[in-house]
Amino acid sequence: MKAKNVVIIFFVLTSIIFAQKTPYVILISFDGFRWDYCERGITPNLDKLQNEGVRAKSLKPVFPSKTFPNHYSIISGMYPEDHGIIANYFTNPFTHERYRVGDTVSVRQGKWYQGEAIWETARRNGIVTASYFWPGSEIELEYRRPNYFKYYEHNKTYKERIDGVINWLNLPQKERPHFITLYFHDTDSYGHDFGPNSIEINQSIKRLDSLLGYLNSEINKLETKDSIDIILVSDHGMTEVCKDKIINVDEILSDYKFRFDSGETFALIEPEENKLNEVYEILKKNENHFKVYLKNEMPEYYHFSNHQFITTIILIADLGWTVVNNKLLKSYTKSNTKGNHGYDNNELDMHGIFFAKGPHFKENYKIGTLLNVDIYPLLAKIFKINPRNNIDGKLERIEFILK
Ligand code: AMP
Ligand code: ZN
Ligand code: ZN
Repeated sequence: MKAKNVVIIFFVLTSIIFAQKTPYVILISFDGFRWDYCERGITPNLDKLQNEGVRAKSLKPVFPSKTFPNHYSIISGMYPEDHGIIANYFTNPFTHERYRVGDTVSVRQGKWYQGEAIWETARRNGIVTASYFWPGSEIELEYRRPNYFKYYEHNKTYKERIDGVINWLNLPQKERPHFITLYFHDTDSYGHDFGPNSIEINQSIKRLDSLLGYLNSEINKLETKDSIDIILVSDHGMTEVCKDKIINVDEILSDYKFRFDSGETFALIEPEENKLNEVYEILKKNENHFKVYLKNEMPEYYHFSNHQFITTIILIADLGWTVVNNKLLKSYTKSNTKGNHGYDNNELDMHGIFFAKGPHFKENYKIGTLLNVDIYPLLAKIFKINPRNNIDGKLERIEFILK
């Protein structure tokens, strides 16, 4: 045999062995699925998952407990002050550009995302990845996004999303992704519209639970079924809000000019530079049903001060309260919001879920609260690749759930 053919055979064989050995991980997010929704006796498939694998009491989100900062923390292992997605809505004060969920231009611009998502780390290590929706998966730079991805379509049916993932897992071995994300917004939407204690949220919880059953039955048909790890998380929880519990910053600061960003569960406030202390003192004097902090005096546990897009004043409403300015008050009054999230991430109502099963995970293993920034180094460990070294997540806090 010619030397060239030997080399080709060697590469084909090693790539087959590599592909067979590389694990498969499906990371699923049930948006807004509060930590205790699975204790309502209506989730048989989650009960089964708990018995077959690991279940954490809760998954602690990062502050602010909103969708984009948290999904990006899960996938990058960094706090928002380090990865840059500091809220669902925020402003670059130097260029006045805004990042907005729902704005397809900004959510696809790589410049906002300073973290490295696991799919970027994995791709660099020759692992094929895919995403059926995840904040930050649609970045315009090819090498920074999954090999296969979908532009977000809110109304894409849940069955189509699962079938899409199964189709990827049926691809020929060389093209088949080993890391896949899957996202469902259902419990978030119903939690906002009807509240976390409604009949409608229970129907939504049951709907997602039966989807998990459908996903399992489809996975069981795959030849790779025994080498697939499933990690199920949520980005945050949900709490009831009350229409009368309103804090209007425009009323408190009627004599001052300031920039107001985000709003509802927390507000980012940028006063004129020479009025900073006055504005802070007035807010502090009126600190009723909210907490006000100067950026450089934010309590350490928020990990929310070290980014140039974070405003000099941060106001965090108490659970169930809503912070607005006059403009936001108008739209908020028209809406019929019954539930919200985004509050202090220490509040248990803001916590989400963590379940994991598959060849890498211990079985029937119940543990306490995990931090969502630790999931990225966990994924790196499962794939036996080096995580980026400047992350906030710590493998030591989570690796005990592995076999
Ligand atoms: P929120 O409750 O405001 O923190 O955000 C939840 C909403 O984010 C969902 O209802 C979706 O409409 C939206 N969303 C989730 N993932 C994406 C995505 N990948 N791209 C755009 N919007 C998304
Ligand atoms: Zn969310
Ligand atoms: Zn939400």
